[in-house]
Amino acid sequence: MALTFDDAYDNFADHALPVLQEHGFPATVYAISGWLGRPMAWAGDAPGRPVPKLMSAARLREVHAAGIAIGSHSASHAKLGELKPEGQRAELADSKAALEDLLGAPVRHFCYPFGNFDLGAVRAAATAGYASATTCLRGAATQADHPLALPRKAISYGDNLLGYWWKLAMKDAPKPVLVDWRRRLTEGQV
Ligand SMILES: [Zn+2]
Repeated sequence: MALTFDDAYDNFADHALPVLQEHGFPATVYAISGWLGRPMAWAGDAPGRPVPKLMSAARLREVHAAGIAIGSHSASHAKLGELKPEGQRAELADSKAALEDLLGAPVRHFCYPFGNFDLGAVRAAATAGYASATTCLRGAATQADHPLALPRKAISYGDNLLGYWWKLAMKDAPKPVLVDWRRRLTEGQV
């Protein structure tokens, strides 16, 4: 099992990191290279809910130094499936270069913002040199998955401990959209 945290919120360092360290769990945080240190601003206004802040460059370096793997979550949290090839290339390659520059270490993992991707985005991830990319396709990753279109099980603020356990334990059949991606990507299209 792999633990992944999208967006690189400041509160990851406050709350999740100490627990991960206490239990010795490895984890990956996906950072948005162009948004470090800024408020999260792509979900629109949710009245009554505070806008979380994203980690600064300095804090991301600290988290990395504490043993957390840092992946890219693009340069601007764009919906990659809606971009032209040049835009996809920029979001994937430029964010990788910027984060590698910041951390002084290779960045080999990517997460598609909003889980939005298409074949062009997968190809751009391959060209940029990523070893893995995660989606919001729901399911447990298996050997049948392409490493640049990995499914995940999302745990959100609405989940309690029982819901968390249920999601992990659930072994339901993969959704048709996941089956379709497995088929498309094993036919040698990337
Ligand atoms: Zn995100």
